[in-house]
Amino acid sequence: MPIVLGGGLSGLSAAYYLSKRYIQPVTVVEASKRLGGWVKSEPDPEKGFIFEAGPRTIRPKGPAAANTLELLEDLGLENEIQPIYPHHPAARVRMIYARNRLHVLPSSLGGVMKQTSLFKEPLINSVFHDLKAPRSSQLLDDEPIYDFVSRRFGNDVAQYAISPMICGICAGDAKEISVRFLMNDLFEKEQKYGGVIKGMLLGSLFGKRKSPDESLKKAQNSNLAKRAKEEGWSIYSLKGGLEQFPRALAGKLVENNVEIKTNAECKKLKFYNDRAVVNISGNEHETDHVISALPSHKLANLVQQEHPSLACMLRSIPYVTVAVVNVQYDLCDLLEDEAFGFLVPPSENLPILGVIFDSCCFNMNRKTVLTVMMGGRWFHEHFGLKPSTKDILKTALKHLKNILKIEETPSKTAVRILEDCIPQYTVGHTARVENIRNYIERNGLPLAVCGAAYDGVGVNDVILSARRTVESLTQC
Ligand SMILES: Cc1cc2nc3c(=O)[nH]c(=O)nc-3n(C[C@H](O)[C@H](O)[C@H](O)COP(=O)(O)OP(=O)(O)OC[C@H]3O[C@@H](n4cnc5c(N)ncnc54)[C@H](O)[C@@H]3O)c2cc1C
Repeated sequence: MPIVLGGGLSGLSAAYYLSKRYIQPVTVVEASKRLGGWVKSEPDPEKGFIFEAGPRTIRPKGPAAANTLELLEDLGLENEIQPIYPHHPAARVRMIYARNRLHVLPSSLGGVMKQTSLFKEPLINSVFHDLKAPRSSQLLDDEPIYDFVSRRFGNDVAQYAISPMICGICAGDAKEISVRFLMNDLFEKEQKYGGVIKGMLLGSLFGKRKSPDESLKKAQNSNLAKRAKEEGWSIYSLKGGLEQFPRALAGKLVENNVEIKTNAECKKLKFYNDRAVVNISGNEHETDHVISALPSHKLANLVQQEHPSLACMLRSIPYVTVAVVNVQYDLCDLLEDEAFGFLVPPSENLPILGVIFDSCCFNMNRKTVLTVMMGGRWFHEHFGLKPSTKDILKTALKHLKNILKIEETPSKTAVRILEDCIPQYTVGHTARVENIRNYIERNGLPLAVCGAAYDGVGVNDVILSARRTVESLTQC
C-alpha cells in the first residue's frame, strides 16, 4: 500500500503509474488545499486571458516529452493541446536583452553565418573555436556549464547565450550549474574525443548508437507524440491553462481508486523492519512503501531525526526563489516585436531574469499579457530578505517601461513570490543524487524519491522521474 508524498505533477504522476500497474490501494498526501504544486493557472473568464503563476509551456521533443504526450493522451486531453508551430514568431524569435537593447538570437543556418548585434563574431566561428580548442587539461568529473561552454565555444557564447538560457531553465547561475547534469552528452564528447564537434563526427562514424529507451518506445509511438513530430510543434500548452493537466491527472486517479488527501501535511517519517510510519497531520499511518515527490529540503525535515546524514545530503541541493509578475494591458498591440520573449544575461546585473510574451504565444483575447520572472539565484541580492509585492511590481513595471517602452498602466497584475521553487543542479549534482539513492538502498529504507529536485526541472522531467521511480520499485 504505497503512500505518495506531494500532490505536484510528480507525485500525481507517480500515483498514476502505480495505479496503472494495478498496485492498490495508493494514497497521495498533499500539504496544501490544492493539487498541482507549482502549476497554477488563473484564467480571467470575463476578459478571456490567463495568468500562469508557474510553468506555461511544455517541450514536445525527445523521449521524456513523448512520455508526457502519451500521458496527456491517456487523460483524454489531446483536443485541449495548444501547440506553437515552427513558423510562429513565438517559435522562431527569442531575444536577449544586453547592452541596453534587445537582440534577436539567430535561429537559422543563415543567421548563424551572419554577424549579429549580440555576438562579436558570427556564431559559426564558435564551431571553429571548438575544433581548435584543446580538451580540458585533465579529465574532469564535472564543471560549471559556463566554464565548459566558454572553453569549447568562446566566452561570448557562454555569456550571451548559455548564461541567459540557464536563467530561463532554472533561474540559476551558469557559473555554478553542472555541465554533467544539463549537457552530459556534449561534455562526454569532449572528455572522450577532445572536442564536441569532433565527438559528434567520430561518434557518428565509430561510436555505438544509443538505442532508444525500451520503456519509452511505446510512448514515442503514441498518436499524440507522432502528431507533435509530424506537425513540428515547437512548444505547447493547454487550453484553459496548464493547471488542466494536474486536474485531469487527479480526476484519473479518483477513477482508479487512488485516495487523495489534501490539507494533509506529512510531518515525520520513521522506518522499521521494512515498513514506514508516516505522520500525516499528527496521525500515524503504516505502509510498506513511501514515494517522496517533495522538494528535497522538505523531505530532509521529515527524516532529520532518524537519518541525519540523509537529511544533510538532501539539504545539499540548493533552491532559489523566483518572483513571478503577470501583467495585462487592455491594448493588444503594445509590443514592438513578436517573439516568445527575452532573457537577460546575469552580467547585466538586473533583477529580472526574463519576460515571456504570453499574448504572442497564445490567444489572450486581444489583450497584451506578459510575465516577468525575477530574482532566482540573485533574488536576495536584488530584493533583500523580505521584499514587498508592491516593490516587486514597481521594479517589474519599471523594466517593462525601459526595455519594451510600455508606458501604459496595466489593467490587471498579479505578483507572487515563489519561495524556494526551483532546485539548482550545481556542480556535482549527479553524484549527489546517486549518493542519496545509494543511502536509501544501503539502509534498506522503504523509500524512493522522484521529482524536480533530482532528475530535472521541466514538466517532462518530473513526470518521467515519477515513471522511472515506479518502474524501479515494481521491478524489485
Ligand atoms: C515559476 C516557474 C516556472 C516554470 N516554468 C516551466 C515551464 O514553462 N515549463 C516546464 O516544463 N517547467 C517549468 N517549471 C518547472 C516545473 O513547474 C516544476 O519542475 C514542476 O512543476 C515540479 O513538480 P514536482 O511535483 O516535482 O514538485 P512541486 O510542484 O514542488 O510539488 C511538490 C508538492 O509537495 C507538497 N508538499 C510539500 N511539503 C509537503 C509535506 N510535508 N507533506 C505533503 N505535501 C507536501 C507541495 O505543497 C507541492 O504540492 C517552472 C517552475 C516554476 C517555479
